[in-house]
Amino acid sequence: MTNILVTGGAGYIGSHACKALRAAGYIPVTYDNLSTGWEDAVKFGPFEKGDLTDRARLDQVFAAYQPVAIMHFAALSQVGESMREPGLYWHNNVAGSLTLLQAAVQAGCKDIVFSSTCATYGDQDNVVLNEDSKQYPINAYGASKRAIEDMLRDFEVAYGLNHVVFRYFNVAGADPDGEVGEFHQPETHLIPLMLDAIDGKRDALTIFGTDYDTPDGTCIRDYVHVMDLVDAHVLGVKWLEEGKGSRVFNLGTGSGFSVREVIDHSGAVTNRDVPVVEGPRRPGDCTKLVSGSTRAKAELGWCPKRSHLDQMIADAWRWHQAGHYNK
Ligand code: UDP
Repeated sequence: MTNILVTGGAGYIGSHACKALRAAGYIPVTYDNLSTGWEDAVKFGPFEKGDLTDRARLDQVFAAYQPVAIMHFAALSQVGESMREPGLYWHNNVAGSLTLLQAAVQAGCKDIVFSSTCATYGDQDNVVLNEDSKQYPINAYGASKRAIEDMLRDFEVAYGLNHVVFRYFNVAGADPDGEVGEFHQPETHLIPLMLDAIDGKRDALTIFGTDYDTPDGTCIRDYVHVMDLVDAHVLGVKWLEEGKGSRVFNLGTGSGFSVREVIDHSGAVTNRDVPVVEGPRRPGDCTKLVSGSTRAKAELGWCPKRSHLDQMIADAWRWHQAGHYNK
């Protein structure tokens, strides 16, 4: 079987990707420093603990497994934190990715699937985004991801390292089999925080800003089910295996939900009250981030099956009630 190096394979999206890779007949080799990931989440292939900025460790892992491709998830990904501590994002995300790409080139690994983000687009006057939309990130997280996209283009030209870049929107839900799920410590994302508030693990969910230029004043996001997202990643590996060359794909649903709408749906799906308080805006938040996925559907054959808000909340709720990890 074929090895795929999965950086960040112990994290939320990476662990689901490992499951999907295994189901598709690959061996996912997780490379993760466990700064935000969980060793318990590595269930579908070997685990190699290591940091992206550790070139010697990366060289060892490339030599040991000779992966044909990389899925690169490992990154810091919190908008708010990136505004307070941008250096962390430039170091971990940008310098870490540079080290990874240099190690890949030296090892002769020619294909990489990279998780980028809609945060690279920034605030764009309530449009539905597509891959050709201009990228003007308004937070250091988005800026770090855009810089890595630039790096990938340069590495393709110079060294023939082919990339599939996925810019994704808000990832939610969990493996319906309950083998893996979303578990951050500390948690910062809307849906898991809300589920904590619903079952009393925290006092209330704070709505970050109610004065945005949207129908109900709260930010609008496009939520994609993690299982659909990782299906796209497997298709991305196959795309590169077939020699189709570098390509960028947005992975969104084309439908946006406001924070208040997500709260209402969560109350209905769980049949519980959602304790909320209204707070100020969080620095770095865009008003609206919504994308279609015409290109991913037409070219990759991506076919999202579970990306309905109520399904995502139901799957997240099931995991939330049963699942957790230990280091
Ligand atoms: N949000 C919120 N309260 C929270 C966490 C998030 O109102 O405690 C909002 C946030 O401002 C954004 C949306 O929920 O508009 C999604 O935020 P999240 O951190 O889940 O993902 P992001 O869009 O930053 O990737």
